[in-house]
Amino acid sequence: MKTSNKTNRRQFIKVTATGLAGATLITGSDVEAKTRKKKEKIIYRTLGRTGVKLPIVSMGAMRGESKALIKMGIDKGIVHYDTAHVYQKGKNELMIGEIFKDQNRDDFFISTKIVPDDMDRKTGLLGEGASAEKFMKNLDISLERLQMKQVDLLYLHAISTKEATLHPEMLKALKTAKEQGKTKFIGISTHKNEPEVIQAAMDAGIYDVVLTAYNFKQDHHDELKAMIKKGAEAGIGFVAMKTMAGGFLDKEQTEPVNTKAALKWVLQDENICTSIPGFTAFEHLEESFSVMEDLKLTKQEEKDLEFAREYAGLYCNQCDQCKGQCQKGLPIPEIMRAYMYTYGYRDMSQAKDLLANMGVENDPCASCDNCTVSCVKQFAIADKIKDVSRLANVPDEFIS
Ligand code: SF4
Ligand code: SF4
Repeated sequence: MKTSNKTNRRQFIKVTATGLAGATLITGSDVEAKTRKKKEKIIYRTLGRTGVKLPIVSMGAMRGESKALIKMGIDKGIVHYDTAHVYQKGKNELMIGEIFKDQNRDDFFISTKIVPDDMDRKTGLLGEGASAEKFMKNLDISLERLQMKQVDLLYLHAISTKEATLHPEMLKALKTAKEQGKTKFIGISTHKNEPEVIQAAMDAGIYDVVLTAYNFKQDHHDELKAMIKKGAEAGIGFVAMKTMAGGFLDKEQTEPVNTKAALKWVLQDENICTSIPGFTAFEHLEESFSVMEDLKLTKQEEKDLEFAREYAGLYCNQCDQCKGQCQKGLPIPEIMRAYMYTYGYRDMSQAKDLLANMGVENDPCASCDNCTVSCVKQFAIADKIKDVSRLANVPDEFIS
């Protein structure tokens, strides 16, 4: 089917979910004509072999206070909303459920993500506790919170190794979820060792979609871009996350990343179907949505990205080059990611959960006189750890 940026949301979902042959095009009412006019600038791309066409800007709904933002996103024509089993200990899925129970479910594309049980976040490997049964139990909990019988896309979440991508219990769970109609499509999400995970996803043959970190600050961008191309040619649909590379260059948030430029930069890669920025403000949503007017970077935007590229900023590119350097065996890349969530995205909940998951307590460097960790971005590792690990002592009720 030919892609048109003039087709409205309902038409797209109807056509693409059933295939062109079985599609029932909705006749234009006055209301729909107005909607079409309002949304005519929306650019759509196809999500790989799923055949689903989505606007190139979607929404990562990571925070509870996103409710009003999601409603605004619905009004603007955003179709795809992404959540996860772990976000805000389930409150995020509950919020999505509350919002979409009053919407026509067929108009939207909802994804959730589940981290395998018993995954060692340092090594990315799964232990004996990673079973299909537990995964399916978590999926049932997610569906109940979402008040849905089926999600459009279910991701195996936060995967960084080929072993986890190809883990027999996880493949079994994902296949079962699809067979039982609990998800239409299967995906995998990764923000570390992405090329390895993408290759393994192709080898597995069951993944329809890869959700990958992708931004202008990644040192391994060329390798990742080439692997995405290879995956796209094999029929995998790609969704980009972490497009804002931390959102800010400093913890005081006086130096913002030019988020519009950062998003344009990602979407210039036509193998990326859509992106899921985690909006935190109405202006942010407006600005990101406006990239669809013209994906070409202006001279000033190019300069802004160049400046941000040179600046260490808040974004740890998860390169693992500091692996094994800490005398106490601390998971430095994960702690630096928690630092970015805290000061870049102001998402203390996700940062705290990540630290707790890694067993990082308050001030773990206290008894260490000499830091042996060297970061390629010259992050002051010990200072950042001392700073962010204070979250371990903050009660949950003080964290949004
Ligand atoms: S100061 Fe902290 S990060 Fe550095 S080596 Fe010691 S325990 Fe590890
Ligand atoms: S802390 Fe530095 S060296 Fe370690 S993964 Fe992040 S960017 Fe790479």
